[in-house]
Amino acid sequence: MIPIARPLLGKEEIDAVTEVLSSGMIAQGPKVDEFEIAFSRYTGCEYAAAVNSGTAALHIALLAHGIGKGAEVITSPFSFIATANSILYTGAKPVFADISPDTYNIDPERIQEKITSKTRALMPVHLYGQSADMKAIMEIAEDHKLIVIEDACQAHGAECLGKRVGSFGTGAFSFYPTKNMTTSEGGIITTSDREVAEKAKMIRAHGSKVRYLHEMLGFNLRMTDIAAAIGLAQLEKLDGFTAARQKNAAMLSAGLKGIPGLVPAITKPGCTHVFHQYTIRAEKRDELAEFLKGKGIGTGVHYPIPIHKQPYYMELGYKDSLPVSEKAAQEVLSLPVHPALSADDVQKIVSEVKGFYTKA
Ligand SMILES: *Cc1c(COP(=O)(O)O)cnc(C)c1O
Repeated sequence: MIPIARPLLGKEEIDAVTEVLSSGMIAQGPKVDEFEIAFSRYTGCEYAAAVNSGTAALHIALLAHGIGKGAEVITSPFSFIATANSILYTGAKPVFADISPDTYNIDPERIQEKITSKTRALMPVHLYGQSADMKAIMEIAEDHKLIVIEDACQAHGAECLGKRVGSFGTGAFSFYPTKNMTTSEGGIITTSDREVAEKAKMIRAHGSKVRYLHEMLGFNLRMTDIAAAIGLAQLEKLDGFTAARQKNAAMLSAGLKGIPGLVPAITKPGCTHVFHQYTIRAEKRDELAEFLKGKGIGTGVHYPIPIHKQPYYMELGYKDSLPVSEKAAQEVLSLPVHPALSADDVQKIVSEVKGFYTKA
């Protein structure tokens, strides 16, 4: 079976974890500090605050910017549920702007239409590992004095116009095992705003800078040194992982070119795509997925139901019509692109997909 995702963990990660376990300091400690410095540098930010998930990173980023009840945050409906849920956690209202049909990222023109007097922030998602249109988004944010929180949970190291994602506004990354690098569970907030960084670090630890002095309401959302040690080892390998993903993606794109009924993944000029997912648009999507499963190839649908159509959001009263997202949900299919694939694996994926469309 060729799985849709697989973390690559080796001796480096095992040794790093063993070292932490032997030290006896297994909660948040010096490894977390070290990881924050390394990841902030990698992203091109001055500060980072490590936490225990990408969801926590999004939640804390919003809170650190003072977003809560009464505020509206414009985001993409075509994402993992955590994006919009993090907004709900704060008491603010997620407002959905439809996506572009080629990149599946939020469409700046649709953002414009959703701005009201209550809009406080924009939360673009760098979906599948490709930066949203940050030039247009930062211009809108500047014009309307809006905060930008980037959901970079799928886009470690991706660039837009020479700048890394997570450094345009406040960034939130995930280190879940299927992501481009992992800490087991984990996440991080990146920023060059000192005040936001300090607040984020307080919110993750019960609103406290000094032990047992609590200046604000916080949570326990800390990262452990065990996780940070894995993260430090993974960060060393990240550029290699990304290069392998990009090479696999290039092979997939070359092989899948010109098949009627199939649109390969698209990379926008001016961006680097780090291919968290390699996602095609496919006629007879569900049949193709079933066919590939029979051939031992795992696939994924990211995502089958746009967030505004999820039962819980329907219950909240969302009635949006967002046709580009709704159509994409019917047609997208992610193929394996991760760095654990061999060249033979990629060739097999190409020939089986081709086989499906020629036999049909
Ligand atoms: C994975 C992911 C998250 C949440 O990260 P967790 O670490 O699973 O909490 C949020 N947004 C997007 C786009 C993601 O892919």
